[in-house]
Amino acid sequence: MECSKCGACCVAPDISSLRKPLGERCPHLKDDNLCAIYDDRPAVCRSYAADWLCERISAPTLTERVRNYLAVFQL
Ligand code: SF4
Ligand code: SF4
Repeated sequence: MECSKCGACCVAPDISSLRKPLGERCPHLKDDNLCAIYDDRPAVCRSYAADWLCERISAPTLTERVRNYLAVFQL
């Protein structure tokens, strides 16, 4: 599975090292849904790889993708 740069994994999960709450946009996520600090992103982001989940949450809008992501984990 290749990353489609959909942005959902930078919005849906809580990321403690970034103090990013569940369901909120990472402050480093640009309007085009790409990472503004990509070369210096934290380890948790570096180790995240696209997998089955990306396809499972696929939807036309970021809001829907985030909702789908949270629903998969019943969050
Ligand atoms: S949810 Fe998956 S496809 Fe979307 S940006 Fe993250 S890794 Fe890429
Ligand atoms: S630091 Fe970059 S890769 Fe990590 S969650 Fe924020 S926008 Fe996404």
